[in-house]
Amino acid sequence: MNNIWQEFLKIIHEEVGSRVVETWFKAVQFYQWDAPHKTAYLRAPNQFVKDWLTSHYQHLFHQHLGRLLNEKEIRVTFIESVQTTVTPAVVVPSQITEPTKIVPHRPSMALIQKNPRTRDSLNPHYSFDSFVVGPHNKLAFAAANAVTEKPGRLYNPLFIYGSSGLGKTHLLHAIGNHIKKQARSANILYQSADRFVNEFINAIRFDKVYQFETRYKDVDVLLVDDIQFISNKEQTQEAFFHIFNTLHQAHKQIVFTSDSLPCDIAGLAERMRSRLEGGLIADIQLPKLETKIAILRKKAELNNEHLSDEVANFIASHVTSNVRELEGALIRIFAFASLTKQSLTIELAQKVLLRNKTTQQQTLDLHHIATKVAAHFDYTLQEIRSNKRNKDLTLARHVALYFMKKLTTRSLKEIGSFLERKDHSTVIHAYEKIEQYKKNNNPFIEKLSRIEQEITR
Ligand code: ADP
Ligand code: MG
Repeated sequence: MNNIWQEFLKIIHEEVGSRVVETWFKAVQFYQWDAPHKTAYLRAPNQFVKDWLTSHYQHLFHQHLGRLLNEKEIRVTFIESVQTTVTPAVVVPSQITEPTKIVPHRPSMALIQKNPRTRDSLNPHYSFDSFVVGPHNKLAFAAANAVTEKPGRLYNPLFIYGSSGLGKTHLLHAIGNHIKKQARSANILYQSADRFVNEFINAIRFDKVYQFETRYKDVDVLLVDDIQFISNKEQTQEAFFHIFNTLHQAHKQIVFTSDSLPCDIAGLAERMRSRLEGGLIADIQLPKLETKIAILRKKAELNNEHLSDEVANFIASHVTSNVRELEGALIRIFAFASLTKQSLTIELAQKVLLRNKTTQQQTLDLHHIATKVAAHFDYTLQEIRSNKRNKDLTLARHVALYFMKKLTTRSLKEIGSFLERKDHSTVIHAYEKIEQYKKNNNPFIEKLSRIEQEITR
């Protein structure tokens, strides 16, 4: 079920863009598929998210989730997450909303933009103009600008790195858009490394490696997003290495983004690493309060919405994780105000943010979770983080990892490294172990639910 949901998110991501997915769909869980009744039960964190999704995106569930479930017509029913752990047996009818009739409906608000991609897959909304510069991204911004002035001549490659949601993709598109404006005929290619890997695998499968490589030969500017995805993919790295060399020798500009430094990308061939490090490396940090407020102002302005200082300040100090979440919070607040026809006051902002689970999720930190879980199992934090093994301790460690994945928006890598595990597959493994262990094990489910309450209290 989780796979289907992930697949669904990927598909609608293409259709409605990451903003909508992050803001609305990621708040929802695919809870249960009732095959005989062709009903998908989804769990929304609150009534508001549920209403919004039903009124704006019902058609997407119908179309794509239905297809993934191999059904022409499906019913979609939301349950609210009243309890933290609910087993199917205790879903009482009153918790289930009436199945809503599925009517295709198009979003109407300007906020809910589609991802208007051009053929070179550049998103025109991600421009330098809409990018707010602060101390946290000054270097990356300056480097990006310099690159557009003399593509291929100054910093080649440019390597931009920083954690998720801090504006790397935005900046990458901005470079492409800017160069395109100056030189209409320039052949600019934006590609996520993820997609590069997939296309390469397909090329091998269908014996089309030559055609695959040819596609890159006449590119003038190559923008590769999230290059860390080529980690441990030896053959892809090799293909990429050749493409890189050809373009680099011809002074074609190449820009990479990544969530970590080249030297921290696992399973990266030495020669590939030295290529990535061969130009300029620029980082993006978390913005401070003033910059966050400036970003909120900019987003409000772009959406033709008024945002008071007080409300901007509240949102900026409340959302501490990254810019994507910051933007998501703002959109939810605008949406709520518009939906309920209220003016945007601080009380309204509080209401939306404080009752929203995803916002609560970000404020939970890994340290807090590990400490609570350790205490519950009578271990110390050090023991949880150690390599010591015995049945109880291993279980406690798995529970800690499980909640870190479930209750925060941290990446697997961050979670893994918090517990000093080199390989992030440990986190997935722990999560699956716990899910497995939960099956038909009510005492354990109750125990988890108690721990979760302690963590979120
Ligand atoms: P990343 O690629 O680093 O994960 P994105 O580029 O996707 O992050 O940014 C997430 C969201 O935050 C995007 O909607 C982007 O427009 C916005 N954003 C990030 N940084 C800024 C900024 N400095 N100014 C304006 N918007 C920003
Ligand atoms: Mg990105």
